[in-house]
Formats: sequence, C-alpha cells, structure tokens
Amino acid sequence: MRVTWSAGTRLSFRLDPEDEITGKASDEHPIKLATNSCSIGGVPGDAHPDLYAVAAWTVVAPWTRRRITFDRAISAELAEALHDGWGIEAGPIGAERRSPGATLAISYSGGADSVAAATMYPQAPFVHFQRVNHPRVPNRWPHYRSDVLARLAAKTGRELSVVTSDLEYTLAEPRPGYPEHHAVAAGALLLADRLDLGGLGFGYEMGSRWLGGGRYLWRFTPDNPMWAPHGRWGRLFAAAGVHIVLPVGGVSEAVTMRLALGSPLREQVRWCLRGTGGPCRVCGKCLYKELIQAAVERRPLDTPVTADSPVARKWLKKPPYGGQEMIEYGLARVPGIEDTVFGPVLDYFDATEESTSWLEHCYPPALGEIPERWRAEAASFVEANVGLMTEDEVRRVETWGT
Ligand SMILES: [Zn+2]
Repeated sequence: MRVTWSAGTRLSFRLDPEDEITGKASDEHPIKLATNSCSIGGVPGDAHPDLYAVAAWTVVAPWTRRRITFDRAISAELAEALHDGWGIEAGPIGAERRSPGATLAISYSGGADSVAAATMYPQAPFVHFQRVNHPRVPNRWPHYRSDVLARLAAKTGRELSVVTSDLEYTLAEPRPGYPEHHAVAAGALLLADRLDLGGLGFGYEMGSRWLGGGRYLWRFTPDNPMWAPHGRWGRLFAAAGVHIVLPVGGVSEAVTMRLALGSPLREQVRWCLRGTGGPCRVCGKCLYKELIQAAVERRPLDTPVTADSPVARKWLKKPPYGGQEMIEYGLARVPGIEDTVFGPVLDYFDATEESTSWLEHCYPPALGEIPERWRAEAASFVEANVGLMTEDEVRRVETWGT
C-alpha cells in the first residue's frame, strides 16, 4: 500500500500487488473497496507525520496485506505498533514520536452514548465527523442527514470542531461507512496538534467494549482488538500520542440513555440519522432506542412500528442479537411489552429486573482503562451518578455469552 496526502487533507492510496479490494474490518465484518481517494475538511494543512499515518491506516487497513509506504517519515514507535498489531512493514522511518498533549476531546456524534461521555467531561471540546458527498461516488443514501446532526452539535455550546469527510464512500459494501470504526477519528487525529490532544473519548459503551456487541462476537471480550487499550488499535493510537478513552465503556446503554436524558445536552440528543425535525421513529435504531428509553422511563412502548414492518421482523428471529443485553433489559421493564412488536422475543428469554440489574451499574475495570490523567473525573462522576457493580454483577459481565 502506498499512501499520499495532498495539501495535508486529501488522501489517495495505491494498492500493492499483494493487496486486495476485499477485506475485513477489525470486527471481522467483510467489506469491499469502492475507490482510492477521500478528503478531510476542517483540519489544518500540517500535523505530526504519525497522525497522518494513523488517520490513513483507519481507511486502508482492511486492504493492506504486507507493507505500507507513507509519503512522510513516521516514528519507529509507530512502525512498531503497526508491525506488532497487523504484521505490516511500515515506513519510511525517521521522525521523532509525538508526545501526548494535555487535552481530552470527545468524538461527538450526538447519540445518547456520546452525549453521556460528553456529560462526564463538561470541559472537553468536541470533534464531530460530518459525512459529505464524494466527487466520484454517487450518493445513494440521501436520507442520511449528516447536516442535521452537525447543526445539533453546534447547538451544544461546547467548543466544537466539525470535520467534513467523504471517506465513508471509499467503502462499496456493505454500504458507505467507516472502513474501520476508528475512521470516525481521522479528522480528530489531524486536529490533534492544534487541539493539543492527548486523548480522544468515544461513546462506545459496555456492550461494544466488553460484550462483543454490534456486529461483533456477542461474548465477553476483555481483549477486544478495537477498543481495549492493550489491543492493536489502542496501542497504535497511543503511539501517536492520542489515547483512546472510553468514558462510558463500563456502563450499559440504559445508563447512557439515562445520563443523556438528564444532561444539559438533552435537547441535542439524536441517535437517528434520518429525521430532520426529530427522530424518524420508524428506523431500526429508533425502535431499539425507544425500547431502552421506555425501560429507563418505565412507561409503555411508544412506536408507530407495527409487527409486519421490515424493521420489526428482525425480532422474530432467534437470538443472539447485537445489543441483546438491552433487549433483555427492556423485556424485563417495559409495561405491556407482550403486546408490542417485541412480544415474540419474550419466548427466548426469562429476563427479570433482578437478572438485568447489572446493566444499571458500572463495570469497575472500565474505569481502570481510562488514562490516569482523566480517570479521577470519570470515577467521581460514576460514583455520584451510577455506582459500581457488585461482585455478582461483575460476574454477569465476565460470563456473558458463555
Ligand atoms: Zn430513526
């Protein structure tokens, strides 16, 4: 793989003979390359070469098989992190490594999880990734309203950097999106020198960090390669002086929902990518989040989704589901759930308030993973607003999926 940054903001790459246009993201999901260039706007024209290297790697990692050649020399430490993590020869080598800065920024999407992370650090600046069109790839996803989310981010009153990018269109399949989940941070990385970043906080919660949630493994994953500090991505970001920080990595989506709805940013919370004046209420994400919100607010489900809609059909299939712990949480707590689209799912679980109470507390090792500089603030927030898991509850996490 050969990588070039023009004017510091336009990435183009050329595959070597051994590289391939099909690959897997770090969560093992199969993906396919669409095109070999993308741009990042809203960033300065210069940054430490290791920041450019990591930003590029979030886009080209799935396609690279043996080696990567950057257009500017990187540090030996960064090359080592690429080699240890992926078995990739990286070069040229010749830069001093970047020292971590003093600031923690939040990679802010506006969803409940990232709002909860932001609430834990009221002084932290935001970096928001906004999808824009690609000059050479038609946009078949016009319903994806990234402009609405960027406008909401601007209303939070926080110090905000909006990064615009078409990098998601480098992916042909399964659809435009981040080649690696970490590509959401590409702009934040290029801003790291200007913002003096030493850490970047993501809204990944306990399901994503510890339970193999999303499109991943659905079992306890202490060595999660994407989000564990000792995983390959954690070590790579640290080598560039930007630690991956998961402020809400120890709490469930029930807790992030409760924190977000009780936050000063409540009016700006938006997990739906489709609605303009508000959430669309009919997409799969809206239905899932409505279940969690109804459970947190202990009220009946309020959704226009009916049992015969495609979005609801997913819940006629057998588990496991991504986010299954939250389904169980909702089944145990939403009044009248048996008469909703989730009714059939009740047959698969024996969820009670007691069996799901672990989802209301913080898994303590998650706090231990926050770099020391920012740990005390998170720990005192958790103590005041959430509470730590008991030993029994910790066991629920560590036996999840077994
Ligand atoms: Zn929606």
